[in-house]
Amino acid sequence: MSATDDDPTDDLTVTPPKTWATGLPAVTHALGYALGQTTVRRTALTLLTVNQAGGTDCPGCAWPDPGPADRHRNEYCENGAKHIADEATSRRVTRDFFRRHSVAGLGAKSDLWLNQQGRLTEPMVKRPGAGHYEPIGWDEAIGLLATELNALDSPDQALFYTSGRLNNEAAFLLQLLARAYGTNNLPDCSNLCHESSGSALNETLGIGKGSVTLDDIHHSDLVLVVGQNPGTNHPRMLSALEETKRNGGRVIAVNPLPEAGLMRFKHPQKARGILGRGTAIADRFLQIRPGGDLALFQALNRLLLEAEDAAPGTVLDRAFVEEHTTGFDDFAAHARTIGWDDVLAATGLRREEIEDVHREVLASRSVIVCWAMGLTQHKHGVPTIREVVNFLLLRGNIGRPGAGVCPVRGHSNVQGDRTMGIWERMPQPFLDALGREFGFTPPTAHGLDSVDGIRAMLDGRATVFLGVAGNFVRASPDSDATERAMRRCRLTAHISTKLNRSHTVCGDTALILPTLGRSDRDVQAAGEQFVTVENSMSEVHLSRGRLAPASGHLLSEVAIIARLARRTLGDTPRIPWEEFEADYGTVRDRIARVVPGFEDFNTRVAVPGGFRLPNPAGARVFRTPSGRAVFTRNAFTMLRAPAGHLLLQTLRSHDQWNTVPYAMDDRYRGIHHARRVVLVNPADLEALHLADRAEVDLVGVWHDGVERRARNFRVVAYPTPPGSAAAYYPETNVLVPLDSVADISNTPTSKGIVVRLEPASAGG
Ligand code: SF4
Repeated sequence: MSATDDDPTDDLTVTPPKTWATGLPAVTHALGYALGQTTVRRTALTLLTVNQAGGTDCPGCAWPDPGPADRHRNEYCENGAKHIADEATSRRVTRDFFRRHSVAGLGAKSDLWLNQQGRLTEPMVKRPGAGHYEPIGWDEAIGLLATELNALDSPDQALFYTSGRLNNEAAFLLQLLARAYGTNNLPDCSNLCHESSGSALNETLGIGKGSVTLDDIHHSDLVLVVGQNPGTNHPRMLSALEETKRNGGRVIAVNPLPEAGLMRFKHPQKARGILGRGTAIADRFLQIRPGGDLALFQALNRLLLEAEDAAPGTVLDRAFVEEHTTGFDDFAAHARTIGWDDVLAATGLRREEIEDVHREVLASRSVIVCWAMGLTQHKHGVPTIREVVNFLLLRGNIGRPGAGVCPVRGHSNVQGDRTMGIWERMPQPFLDALGREFGFTPPTAHGLDSVDGIRAMLDGRATVFLGVAGNFVRASPDSDATERAMRRCRLTAHISTKLNRSHTVCGDTALILPTLGRSDRDVQAAGEQFVTVENSMSEVHLSRGRLAPASGHLLSEVAIIARLARRTLGDTPRIPWEEFEADYGTVRDRIARVVPGFEDFNTRVAVPGGFRLPNPAGARVFRTPSGRAVFTRNAFTMLRAPAGHLLLQTLRSHDQWNTVPYAMDDRYRGIHHARRVVLVNPADLEALHLADRAEVDLVGVWHDGVERRARNFRVVAYPTPPGSAAAYYPETNVLVPLDSVADISNTPTSKGIVVRLEPASAGG
């Protein structure tokens, strides 16, 4: 699509879903998209440095790179190439663009259209009562935001939201600004995706991160990929799984949809991937009902316990359980009560399928479980991940080669931002260290996460919203409620590279603060700067942009945050904001003194490939209150939809990066030129008396009496598990009630929404 005033309309065509991922089509699609955005020269300049040691870290996802010696010349995937091209685009959004388009007019445009307009070029303001954004100087813009912050009755009336694109240095400064200002209100996108992983892993293993390395994946006997679609969301994970297979390991995929990337992979950088049939990834595929994973792991755990009963001393790792864990007896007593009828109903699987997996587990010395939002975004997401941990602990599959937990993060530095203190509930030792380093007392009361932040804006407890990167309005659940919340604010401000829906849903005053992208060269007073990020496997490395910035008026995120801090808090010798802006190395020196594991940060990150943070669980050191890994008892839970209803999961298309669609297609699933589609099992269509391609509204069912309706979707017959459906987000976020959240983690339940399909209504 070109950057014109035309918004694409749905023009659905359907082809059979693909049975393999990547290969030559991925290369041609990526290059085609790149060349539609910018010149050959800029494309080459960016792509040749992506994920190279000392180059630009791909902002596409948090999958780790191989060691520097093992990297290809082209160390990126289709999505990474598209994402980098999308940022390096030659298209520009200027002050003239905002003169031509009112805020209301922009609000009527699609997410795809907004993104395709190009890079933001100068700060803009929408003043109270105005219908358009107008230019504003940096000084005035930052002063306006600082004045609003200082006018609040309490610092807790402000929200400082971040998405996982933010680099470590900017993230550290943002949380420092928020806490020095007086609040822990640091909601982030992790609240919306992997919070359940952090909650479960912190409780059971003493660290909210994965325990494995890329080498563990390569050399594992068995990798279970659960509730995850790596072919679209973390494509280079397929290269790692291919390596697992080549080393003799096996892969079991557990997912509601039979995704192409789980079936077969054609490596685009290898001749065998271009010319041959590629590598079969999943040795087994279990098509599970949405939310059935808890029951599956409970059944596997019961089978392991029974196998140990039958042949004592041969199945469980008794020495590990006794030396390193607690809670086994209580867990085991409960696990033995899990009934097969319940398990089969919850999972939709056959008993033999589960027993086959059990036999594979028994035959495997080392097992890894990888997962993503298919596990985390359920009401019982935390218990599900706790049960995964139980499963691994039983056979000592934590803290030895080829074994462990692997929550696969979506955004490139979402894990690093948390390490840097972007969390509304940072532990007291971190707050103490921060206070000691900078000479102030950070607030100790927990702040607001994303869902509670929306509630606070809705009822007027929060009135200033600063979003750093991301697209909060579209990433959040209950779109209508979220938009109402934002519109109630006195001021909304977004530090962004490109236009998105959040800029069109304004408080009384709204600011757009344009910033450098990760591929842009960043020059400050002390010279050219680099930033750092942490991937899904706790490796920290640097990222340096190479391109001339999209406009001479852009500031880096570090610079914007440092200047906002000076204007809000005033200059103090204890926090040298000006020095931080001039030289990011000085920020890293402070991180080294506050955040454990970052000692000698500047020196170690300069080494090609960077360094790995300590991972105590990976060394069988469990920082739980008991000092042991914790077995847990988790109540059996099953998602149900009343007769005539379906369980809906939201998902991304293949041509989409987080909330941003790059095109109207979903190549792997065979959906073309349309996004308002709902995938439904043919048997359900028949039972619901719906024809394939029928036009329907999706109507959410929730007990608060509010009608949540996603209008004008086309039904597509698709092999979803019976009783369930799937549709793209963010279009279907409107159906996720704000109050429908995971227990403990407060993560929206975007993978288990009860809906009914009604004939399409005229509205919307
Ligand atoms: S796997 Fe993720 S980080 Fe790697 S190139 Fe693809 S999108 Fe980028």
